[in-house]
Amino acid sequence: MGAQGVRDVVVVGASVAGLLAAAALARDGRAVTLLDRDDLTDADRADADRADADPTHAVPAPAPRPGVPQGRQPHMLLHRGLASIDELLPGLSDDLRAAGAVPVDTGRLAWLGTGGWAPPSRQPEVLLASRPLIEHLVRRRVRALPGVRVVGGQRVTGLRRGRPGEPRWWVDAVPAGWSDVPVGPAGAAPGRRARPADLVVDASGRASRLPVWLDAIGVRPGAVEEVDAQVGYATVRVRLPAGRLLAPGVVVLPQPGRGGGLAVPAEGGWWTVSGTGAGAHRPPRDLAGLQEFLTSLPDDSLARVLAAGQVEGDVATHRQTANRRHRYDTVVGWPDGLLVVGDALCAFNPVYGQGMTVAALDALALRRADADGRLDGPGAAARLVRECVRIGELPWQTATGADTALAGLPASRDLVSVLVGRWIGALDEMSTHGDVAAQVALSRIYQLAAGPTSLLHPRLVARWLRTRVRGLGPPVPRPTVLSDDVPEAVGGGR
Ligand SMILES: Cc1cc2nc3c(=O)[nH]c(=O)nc-3n(C[C@H](O)[C@H](O)[C@H](O)COP(=O)(O)OP(=O)(O)OC[C@H]3O[C@@H](n4cnc5c(N)ncnc54)[C@H](O)[C@@H]3O)c2cc1C
Repeated sequence: MGAQGVRDVVVVGASVAGLLAAAALARDGRAVTLLDRDDLTDADRADADRADADPTHAVPAPAPRPGVPQGRQPHMLLHRGLASIDELLPGLSDDLRAAGAVPVDTGRLAWLGTGGWAPPSRQPEVLLASRPLIEHLVRRRVRALPGVRVVGGQRVTGLRRGRPGEPRWWVDAVPAGWSDVPVGPAGAAPGRRARPADLVVDASGRASRLPVWLDAIGVRPGAVEEVDAQVGYATVRVRLPAGRLLAPGVVVLPQPGRGGGLAVPAEGGWWTVSGTGAGAHRPPRDLAGLQEFLTSLPDDSLARVLAAGQVEGDVATHRQTANRRHRYDTVVGWPDGLLVVGDALCAFNPVYGQGMTVAALDALALRRADADGRLDGPGAAARLVRECVRIGELPWQTATGADTALAGLPASRDLVSVLVGRWIGALDEMSTHGDVAAQVALSRIYQLAAGPTSLLHPRLVARWLRTRVRGLGPPVPRPTVLSDDVPEAVGGGR
C-alpha cells in the first residue's frame, strides 16, 4: 500500500497533538477520524450556532475538560511552536490574537533563574493563552479541513490487526463511561464499535494505553525512560487592577531545595498565578497556603501579585509532571501503519513549556513524510516513529538535565555531560551578570530555536574568556515588577 493508499486514518485523542496530526494528514480523498473520550461538542456547537446567528459574535469561553487535567494551568506557546502551527493551519496565530491571546517577548519577562535575574533582551514572541482556548481554536480550524471528523465521547479500548482481505487495523472504541470489559459474542458492551483504518495515530497523551495494546498484538512495547522531579503546580486565576503590573510576566524558576512560580497573562484580561516546586517543596492546595508559599520564595513579587489581584475560583493543582518517554524507536517489529505523537510518545516536565511545540514538530514530520511518499510501505511507520523520538531529543535533554539537578538525582558522570553542564552554568552566570548574548543563546535552546552546538559559538567563547580576564560585571538588578516597587529595590531598572 503506497501513501496514496492511506485512505482511512484514525487518530486516538483529539487534543493538541491529535488535532495537529490530523491537520498534517488531512487531504482530499482521505478520511481522518479523531476519537476522544471527552464530549468535545459543547463549546464548538455553541460557537457555530452563535456564528450563524451573529457573525460578529465573540468566541465563547472554552472550558477545561476532564481528559486534559492540565487545562487550568498556565500555557505558553513557544515561538517555534507558533510558527509550526501556522505552517500546519495558516492563520491560527491570528485567530489566537483575535481571541485575546497575549503576545509577549520573553526577554522582557522578570525572570529569576538559578544564578539571579536575567538581563532584559529581545527574544522571539511567544503567545500566552488558556489551554482550552488554544485547543478550541485549533479544533475549529481542523474540523473545517476536508475529510476530518472529530468524534467525542468515544474511549478507544484497543487495536486489532485486520485479517487478510480486511483493512489493516480495527480500532475498538466504546462510548465513554463504559468499562473496558472483555467482549464476547454475547457479552458485547453496548455501543462498542470497531473502526477500520489504514493508519492509526496514537495521540492520547500521558494516559496512552499503547504499551498494553502493543502487548495484546504480540509486540513488546519497549523501555520507558522516566525522570520525575515530582514537580507540582498550584494555580489561581486573578484579575489585577489596571497598571498594577509593570512587567509583562514574572517567572521564578524552582531550584533544588526551594520552590518557584510564575504569573502570566491570558485572554480576557485575567492572569494565572502559580506556585511550582519539586518533592517536599510542592505548593499547597489552598489559597492561604499558596500565598504563604509564594511569600517564602527568594523574591516576593509573585506573592505581591497574588495579594494585589482579585482571585476568581479555587486553586487548581496538578502533579503529573514526570518526564517520560517511550522508546518505541527501539521496538523490534514495529507494526506498519501505526504512529505515535505528542505526550503519548514523550512527555516533558511542563515547567519548560515545550509540549505543544514538540507536538507541532511531530505533526510537521508527518506532513513531510506524506508529501514525500514516506507515510506508508514496509518500515515507513517505524522510521517516522524514530524521527519523532529524535525531534524530542533536545527538549528531553534540556528538561531531564534540569530536573535531575532539581530533584537532587544522581547526575550523569560521562565527560561530555559534565562539560556541557559546566558550560551552561558558566553562560548562565554570565547572563545573570548582564551578558545579553549569553542570555539569548541559552534562551534559544529552551525555546527549541537552536541546537546545543550553538552554545559553542566562537563569539560566546570569546566573551567567556574576557570574563576570565576582566571578571564578571555587576549582577543584574531586580527588575520593576509592580507599580509600587520601592525605588531602592529597582536598582538600575530594566
Ligand atoms: C501543568 C502543565 C502545564 C503545561 N504548560 C505547557 C506550556 O506552557 N506550553 C506547552 O507547550 N505545553 C505545556 N504543557 C504540555 C501540553 O499540555 C501537552 O504537551 C500538549 O497539550 C500535547 O498533549 P497531547 O495532545 O499529546 O495530550 P493531551 O493534551 O493530554 O490529550 C490527550 C487526549 O487524548 C484523549 N484520550 C486519552 N485516552 C483516550 C482513549 N483511550 N480514547 C480516546 N481518547 C483518549 C484525552 O481525552 C485527551 O483529549 C503543560 C502540561 C501541564 C501538565
